[in-house]
Amino acid sequence: MKTLILGAGYAGLAAATSLKPTPGLEVLLVEQNNYHTFETRLHEAAAHNTRVTVPLVPLLRGTGVHWEQAAVENVDVDAREVLLKDGRVLTYDTLVVGLGSVTNFYRIPGLAENAAELKDVSDADEIFTFVNRAYAGDYTGNRDIVVGGAGLTGVELVTELAQRAEQLSKARGLPPIRIHLVEAGPKILPVLDDALRAKAQKTLDDYNINTLIGHRLMQATADSVTVQTADGEQKVIPAGKIIWTGGIQARDIVKGEKLEKGPGGRIAVDAELRAKNYPEVFVLGDMGLALNEEGKPVPTTAQHAGQQGRLTGKNLMRLAKGEALLPYVPNTLGEFVSLGGLMAVGWMKLPWNQKLAITGGIAHVMKRASEWRWRQSIE
Ligand SMILES: Cc1cc2nc3c(=O)[nH]c(=O)nc-3n(C[C@H](O)[C@H](O)[C@H](O)COP(=O)(O)OP(=O)(O)OC[C@H]3O[C@@H](n4cnc5c(N)ncnc54)[C@H](O)[C@@H]3O)c2cc1C
Repeated sequence: MKTLILGAGYAGLAAATSLKPTPGLEVLLVEQNNYHTFETRLHEAAAHNTRVTVPLVPLLRGTGVHWEQAAVENVDVDAREVLLKDGRVLTYDTLVVGLGSVTNFYRIPGLAENAAELKDVSDADEIFTFVNRAYAGDYTGNRDIVVGGAGLTGVELVTELAQRAEQLSKARGLPPIRIHLVEAGPKILPVLDDALRAKAQKTLDDYNINTLIGHRLMQATADSVTVQTADGEQKVIPAGKIIWTGGIQARDIVKGEKLEKGPGGRIAVDAELRAKNYPEVFVLGDMGLALNEEGKPVPTTAQHAGQQGRLTGKNLMRLAKGEALLPYVPNTLGEFVSLGGLMAVGWMKLPWNQKLAITGGIAHVMKRASEWRWRQSIE
């Protein structure tokens, strides 16, 4: 069974590293980078230049998986062909797609052209470079940062940047840079409950981050954004750096006449995570639209992508042995949001579906523990 796994992110890498050499199973992993990125830690790389990648080759030892560094241009599931950017065409019997998501700029005028994103290491480098420049003695430009989107990524980024800015201000005797967090919706971190959200807001306030809730970003230029309140009042915020973390959509790379796509362009999958009408194609992570027991979309998180990848690894071996596939049962073990340095808020799942809210240093340790568990699972 000739199998291709596309993407070595949380989903694709979990699938690949769950495999063992199996008679009849021939697997090629195709990834554009020669490393895996811990995307959940990109905000740390943006603020502190932390290393958030790990080389792929050692991770694949003992799995029987071959790998190739190549960028995928297009996938045609009707022809069962994967076209690579270098012009080569790969064919498959079974395909696993885990190519992740891209930033959704919602066609806001000027945003895609003028805003940085936080989706890969080069984005983090761009932000890190700006902050360093803003703290260089001879810098005369605008030092303010505007971050659009107060979900998990936006809040983790602004708090980490604020913490770094405090350190630099002290060390270099310069005034702090101003950080604005702009959110169109009525609250920050909608995934958290009110008590945890209030803790997160207090941290934003303590860092003197200007949080503008209920302010829709209407337009961006090279050096400013225009925001508007629900009653139509507009203001212009000048900025040296604009960063957009306000939305994602599935990478639009898979084409098929009978593919079904849902919100955010995610590809609808069945109970075993196979694209509807294409039982030989598994679609995982941010690209797939898996549903939970209540029929609601499973969140686009690393946690769920990893679970889906591990299950699919097992299912590939079962397919090769002619065994029935196991169904996907999502399990949200908790959610933690880091708030700069050693601070975090979140909750973990207890027996009988109870949730334990955790804040401060212990929440930070819990978040680190989940990252450590991910690392253990792929090594
Ligand atoms: C700053 C930040 C913080 C986050 N924090 C959390 C968190 O705390 N907890 C959590 O659960 N989730 C978090 N997330 C979300 C999480 O990172 C994503 O849901 C997760 O990465 C999705 O996994 P994936 O495997 O679908 O895609 P990805 O991990 O994005 O992997 C996609 C892979 O495909 C490769 N690829 C893409 N295009 C091509 C191509 N054309 N050809 C070849 N290879 C390609 C990429 O290089 C990448 O390796 C965070 C995200 C960000 C940005």
